[in-house]
Amino acid sequence: MKILVLGSGAREHAIILSLRAEQTEHEIFVAPGNAGMAQDATPVTLDPLDGGAVTAFANTHAIDLVVIGPEAPLVAGVADALRAHGIPVFGPGKAAAQLEGSKSFAKRIMDAAGVPTGRAVRAATVADVESAFDDLGAPYVVKADGLAAGKGVIVTSERAEALAHAEHYLPAGPVLIEEFLSGPEVSLFFLSDGDTVRALSPAQDFKRALDGDAGPNTGGMGAYSPLPWLAEQFGSEQEFVAEVTRDVALPVIRQLDAEGTPFIGLLYAGLILTPAGVRVIEFNARFGDPETQIVLPRLVTPLSELLFAAASGTLEDQPEPEFSDDVAITVVLASEGYPEAPQTGRPIEGLAAAGAVEGVRLVHAATASPDAPGGSLIATGGRVLNVVAVASDFHTARARAYEAIALIGLDGSHYRTDIAARVAE
Ligand code: AMP
Repeated sequence: MKILVLGSGAREHAIILSLRAEQTEHEIFVAPGNAGMAQDATPVTLDPLDGGAVTAFANTHAIDLVVIGPEAPLVAGVADALRAHGIPVFGPGKAAAQLEGSKSFAKRIMDAAGVPTGRAVRAATVADVESAFDDLGAPYVVKADGLAAGKGVIVTSERAEALAHAEHYLPAGPVLIEEFLSGPEVSLFFLSDGDTVRALSPAQDFKRALDGDAGPNTGGMGAYSPLPWLAEQFGSEQEFVAEVTRDVALPVIRQLDAEGTPFIGLLYAGLILTPAGVRVIEFNARFGDPETQIVLPRLVTPLSELLFAAASGTLEDQPEPEFSDDVAITVVLASEGYPEAPQTGRPIEGLAAAGAVEGVRLVHAATASPDAPGGSLIATGGRVLNVVAVASDFHTARARAYEAIALIGLDGSHYRTDIAARVAE
């Protein structure tokens, strides 16, 4: 197949590595891509937010499948433009992508579909916020309604801090005040063709910047899959997945279809397993980052077949995706100052040695080629790269990942040392 991937982060690099690992050889293009992907895909100079330009490229190059990585092109309607020209695309249209783009849209769909989620109140004024705080009690959960790159949510027991967060976002529109939910978090991905879904393997990510879940929220500092402890609560991973498919994914997909906005692409369910049962905390309309980096290396079924079946409405003909018994963990290497004020432009050393550690692959997030030939790659963002380690057990996977990341030199960089520590005991 000729496949065009839109995006430039670690998620897109992981997708491309999985497509490359298939027995069938594909011709892969990426727009815009990053320095780490150069060996694996042909970079294309193209604005991924410009539906007309993406469609023209896909037509000119006879692209069989477009895979949209990040949320921005989805919200910009790039999938709609491609679909209007009959080009198979993995990614929802603008209307269905609101499931991620608008938290109040997601709440409305969940209410209509009877999907279990935390109680929430839309607050348009400070007085509304205060009365929702009185009603729902502490700890307080305040969410900005639109896309806020992971910064729109605060969870705190300090009422003054919660109020200040709400006041910051209120001028832009109403905020959501949500019931506090307590329990372990799980990310579960579903491929959808608008009608049928296929679940991938559950994963857990680490959103806080520092060890022990301290520090500010980030885009994600690490992740692991599968989740052996799910079996204690649900009997098996399969039973958990079946329950979430029945109670969350299918009702949402059917509700969106009934409203004339079918969801074709990746439905990411962010879940909290509370003592009262599974609750949805958020949906995303695309593969999660960093969970993709550890779910895809365990996928045995060819990824291209699943993505193409979803894009072309034939998921029903696909068997359930198969996963290996291996475990995978990823540790994110972050620039000094991330997430508040990342320092960029610094050289990265030691990549060859790190990538040579057994079971390890480096997935690039924010790297660029040096200006002068022969120089080191340069860090261009907060989350720079992911060290992914695969092994037969978590103890070995952790040892491999941390051996590799210690070999990487980037001035001032930091990473968490407790990724998957609990499951490796
Ligand atoms: P979100 O962007 O909605 O996924 O929220 C970011 C993070 O805030 C989540 O991963 C949770 O750790 C936390 N969070 C969100 N909603 C709640 C809630 N209702 N109760 C407790 N924690 C929450």
